[in-house]
Amino acid sequence: TGLSPRERALVERRRRLLGPAYRLFYEHPVHPVRGEGAWLFDAAGNRYLDCYNNVASMGHAHPRIVAAIAAQAAQLNTHTRYLHETVLDYAEALLATLPAALGHVMFTCTGSEANDLALRIARSHTGGEGIVVTALAYHGVTASLADLSPSLGAGVPLGRHVATVAAPDAYRGSADMPRRFAEDVRQAFEDLRRHGIRPCALLVDTMFTSDGVFPDPAGFLAEAVTAARAAGALFIADEVQPGFGRTGQMWGFARHGVEPDIVTMGKPMGNGHPLAGLAIRPELLERFGSTSRYFNTFGGNPVSAAAGLAVLQVLHDEGLAENARSVGAYLQDGLRALAARHLLIGDVRGAGLSIGCELVRDRVTQTPATAETTYVVNALRERRVLISASGPDANILKIRPPLCLSRAQVDLFVETCDQVLASVPGHD
Ligand code: PMP
Repeated sequence: TGLSPRERALVERRRRLLGPAYRLFYEHPVHPVRGEGAWLFDAAGNRYLDCYNNVASMGHAHPRIVAAIAAQAAQLNTHTRYLHETVLDYAEALLATLPAALGHVMFTCTGSEANDLALRIARSHTGGEGIVVTALAYHGVTASLADLSPSLGAGVPLGRHVATVAAPDAYRGSADMPRRFAEDVRQAFEDLRRHGIRPCALLVDTMFTSDGVFPDPAGFLAEAVTAARAAGALFIADEVQPGFGRTGQMWGFARHGVEPDIVTMGKPMGNGHPLAGLAIRPELLERFGSTSRYFNTFGGNPVSAAAGLAVLQVLHDEGLAENARSVGAYLQDGLRALAARHLLIGDVRGAGLSIGCELVRDRVTQTPATAETTYVVNALRERRVLISASGPDANILKIRPPLCLSRAQVDLFVETCDQVLASVPGHD
């Protein structure tokens, strides 16, 4: 697979030291040593266009964010058991981006911990256990989240308190998808109840990223949220992927016109610095807060808070959500233009710079082009353009570049896709 002796040695060393559970991207792994904006560079100075990294959303190694981290690290790093202004300044700035009803924020280090905490609070408030998620959801690494992350595979069984609903797929589904999705949610809670499990929460990634990126029609989520609340459940929006400008708006739930009870967040929140958390309606936190104490050693420490503040400032000052919206639309247009020449492209969808492109062998039968998708992802990598794929048949190209992506970079991306699609064996 074109590995150099040095790369082969590194792969072997990883296997020896880290064991068998870790996976690398691509048949020919990438070994970046430096990043800048949407570019990654390897040790030989080769440049890669990163169209997949949704953590460094403000751009790799953003100088302002790096400087904020360095300055605070050089001064003090403690935790939330001491008084410190920065965590409060950050909490204020973060809450200002959210609906007014969300009045408290709690900090963790990972999206998983944020979801785990959200579930504990939701259980404490509702007295229920029943959780509804989508068919290929991913919500995190802890035992309680593996219980409700069907994308981890058949070897990771779902909990008895977990029910799944089909992904809100407007490409393969019928025109009444929003109603059907809401009906599925209602039924799922009813099934749980029949098994003696009281509703607790509807937990969804508001872009349904691991299910295959399902943004349309905007607003479709509202009916499902109403159904969940009617069942007595809370609505937890997992904004770990859509949050912080990716969809062209600050939060993914906004395009559905819904207000979550709890918002969980992570990934780009610290632009690579491990920072995550949740925002919540204060009344939902009352019982949890009066019966348990919460301390996360690293969550909300002054260095993390400084990183988070710098991220919000950069997002605002550089207009990155707006850039995601316009450059994302330009990228989708580019892919749609390719669809006129490449029959493999069955669907292009997305919001901002969270984009899915579904490859099919036949546009009428919509047969997933799984092997072709693997080929495209790896062939793009050979041309130093980085994306990945998702969905139940792994035939949906998942495109999520840093939000600072430029139109010239989109042109390079689309041209490279054009070349690669023209080279897919058995297709033109
Ligand atoms: N929720 C979603 C939607 C995610 O995509 C992820 C990470 N891929 C998580 C939660 C977990 O976040 P972390 O890896 O920071 O624990």
